[in-house]
This record gives sequence, structure tokens and C-alpha cells, in this order.
Amino acid sequence: MRRKLAAGNWKMNGTSAALAEAEAIAQTHAASPVELLLCLPATLLSRAHDRLAASSLSLGGQDCHAETSGAHTGDISAPMLADAGARAVILGHSERREAHEESSEMVRAKARAAHEAGLMAVICMGESLAQREAANTLDIIAGQLSSSVPDTATGENTVIAYEPIWAIGTGLTATTDQIGEVHDFIRARLERRFGAGVGRSTRLLYGGSVKPDNAAQIFATPNVDGALVGGASLTQADFSPIVTAL
Ligand code: 13P
Repeated sequence: MRRKLAAGNWKMNGTSAALAEAEAIAQTHAASPVELLLCLPATLLSRAHDRLAASSLSLGGQDCHAETSGAHTGDISAPMLADAGARAVILGHSERREAHEESSEMVRAKARAAHEAGLMAVICMGESLAQREAANTLDIIAGQLSSSVPDTATGENTVIAYEPIWAIGTGLTATTDQIGEVHDFIRARLERRFGAGVGRSTRLLYGGSVKPDNAAQIFATPNVDGALVGGASLTQADFSPIVTAL
């Protein structure tokens, strides 16, 4: 009942020349039952929207401010992303939690703003290597889940991405046992807080070095509804086998 979702996070990569890859991805999977989402640098959104208007691929941003407008130099609001053609926004990525000192409370406020602007919030969470080695993973996830996800969450407007920090961009992938344990935990917590309807309809993505050669194994794990892919989402050649594996 949960539609599979293949989401790409281009991070700070891509100028207009890269839009050819987004177009190739959209064309290759035009008839796919999998939902496709590419979260592009904000500078590319409008042009990508113009070029992909006829396709079923959705576009997303990678962050937004919690306010709708105001004196926030360099920031972008959720309504601005929506206006540029975004349908979704990644929030609380570990790279922003770390480099921009974003707290879970800030992420929750941003997610609420995304919901108000009609955007789907892709809320990220995950433990560091030290936290995993100290056997604190589920405590960390529990805290990030309760503090980062707003009460406005539904199965339609929210996606949770589990991204162990130590697996991002490192080539180290969590084992299917590790992924399964965390995804089952997130599912149970969502059901407890929001009830079975929202809890069971919310999609859970795994992120962290998902590649063509490990995607099928990851996607066979219960409660994995798709992936949030970094490096391997930048080209059609790498992303397509991942979409096909879903
Ligand atoms: P990589 O797929 O490059 O490890 O990045 C994962 C990620 O951070 C997606 O948000």
C-alpha cells in the first residue's frame, strides 16, 4: 500500500548542464510505478521544472527556513521552493545538522513550514559511528523522531529517511539487519504516536552509500520503502539500476 520512492539528493552538485541527467532519469522511468524525486540545488529548480513539466518526476529542495519570508539573508522559504516547482524538501540532513548546527526542534519547525506550503517533508535522522558503537542508535533515533517530526505529519506529507552518518559518502553501507532494526523501530514509534493509519502509510527510506550493486539487497528489507541516494543519483547511469531494483 506504500508506493515505493526513489529520491535523489544532489547536495551541492550540478549547474544547468546537469539537467540533461535529470531529463534522462525522467525519460528512462516514465512508465515506472516507482515515485521519483530529485532534490536539486535551489538554483536549478525553476529550470528543471520547466524542462520536466510533462514528466512524472517530482522535484525537491534540500532545506528551507521555518518562516515564510523576512530578513534571513541567504535562506529560502518553503513557499519559495513550492513556487519554483518543488513538491518536497529534505530537512534535517546530517550535513545540515552538523555544519549548520540544526537542532531537531529547528527541523520540526521547518517541517511544519513545509507542510503549510504543501510540500512533502523528507525528514532525515541517523546516528554517528560513536553513537552506534556505544549501542545508542535506537535512543538517538527515538529522540530525533520525537523532536524532528511535527504533529502535522501524515503519510502523504512526510517521509522519514534513516541515514546513518557513518554510511554517508563513505562507501560503507549499513547491513540489512541494522537497517531492518531501525526501520522496524521507526515504524513502531510512528504507529504509537500517530496511530496505525499514519504510522503504516508513512514511507521510510534508507540512505547512505546506496549503489546499483547493493540496492536490491537493501530494498528486500522489511519496512524499507525506498532510498535517499546521494552520489549515485547524479547520473542516469547510476540512478536507473537503483530505481529498477525497487
Ligand atoms: P551517499 O549516497 O552519497 O552516501 O549520500 C547519502 C545521502 O546523504 C543522501 O541524503
